[in-house]
Amino acid sequence: MRSILVTGGAGFIGSHFIRILLEKYSDAKVINLDKLTYAGKLENLESVKNNKNYTFVKGDICDEALVKKLFQENNFDTIFHFAAESHVDNSILGPKVFIETNVLGTFNLVHQAKEFWKSDFAGKKFMHVSTDEVYGYLNEHDPMFVEETPYEPSSPYSASKAGADHIVLSYFRTFKMPVVVTNCSNNYGPHQDNEKLIPTVIRKALAGEPIPVYGKGLNIRDWLFVDDHCYGILSAYENGRTGEKYNIGTNNEWKNIDLVKEICRILDSVKPKNSGKYADQITFVQDRLGHDLRYGIDSSKLMNETGWKPKNSFADSMAFTIDYYLKKYK
Ligand code: NAD
Repeated sequence: MRSILVTGGAGFIGSHFIRILLEKYSDAKVINLDKLTYAGKLENLESVKNNKNYTFVKGDICDEALVKKLFQENNFDTIFHFAAESHVDNSILGPKVFIETNVLGTFNLVHQAKEFWKSDFAGKKFMHVSTDEVYGYLNEHDPMFVEETPYEPSSPYSASKAGADHIVLSYFRTFKMPVVVTNCSNNYGPHQDNEKLIPTVIRKALAGEPIPVYGKGLNIRDWLFVDDHCYGILSAYENGRTGEKYNIGTNNEWKNIDLVKEICRILDSVKPKNSGKYADQITFVQDRLGHDLRYGIDSSKLMNETGWKPKNSFADSMAFTIDYYLKKYK
């Protein structure tokens, strides 16, 4: 029986990942270690909470004694590491916790895994979930990020994730520990914290409040449905090579302003306002400091080596996502 530690499983992506993992590996024991910060919510895990193979542990990935105890009690062979401080704006206001959780917390996990496995790495794997933001930014017509693109992070968030990626990969180079790093583009779907772009647009639209868009809304992001990200991580786990990085994205680049207008357009059709259009509420606000212009990610390595492909169309998944937030914010 596989024994799997998932960190940060009460957050946006981790909660979807646990649902998919338990479906796919119905004979695996899954422990979810999550501190339940503002971004972690147990209601995200309603669908799995009664699964006999699933256990929730409230705790901090930085807690050495706790992580050691969990390894001893559960004899983990696999770690999927999602736990992080993940919001760029928060990292500008208060970067310290980003360094603590994302850098020191990741170090604690990878180091405890190595110590526990005592260099017997047969059947073991450490999966580190990271972001495309570590690469810095692209100009509009630059080629997309590939795995060899040098790291040039702009925000304390992306710098802390870059540090974590380097630490994890150093355990492969130095100790031959079987690690894999995945770097994904922006995700959307249910369970995303209120503060992120898509929930904010829908919440403000429904409340009749200004819908804030940074600068002139010209920043470009590649948007991937969260389930496709989760299957991408599983593909890298099952078929990827250890010591490697795999980009995950879907060539679905949108200027922020176009994405916000598209969400407003869908809202107009599914929940029309009494008068006017939701797009009338769009308000440009002062740009984020160090705001990266464009992220675009080439995931052909993951596709070619592991057979992964995103399965969900943007139109269907965005409609599904909007429906979820309409119910949430009604
Ligand atoms: P999230 O903020 O929604 O969830 C993070 C989870 O980690 C929360 O449940 C939180 O309680 C938990 N956590 C935070 N600090 C912790 C600590 N010290 N100990 C234990 N648990 C802790 O984040 P998300 O959007 O689900 O992102 C998950 C991972 O995926 C992150 O590592 C992020 O960098 C990466 N990622 C996210 C995106 C995206 O678009 N959201 C894209 C690419 C990569």
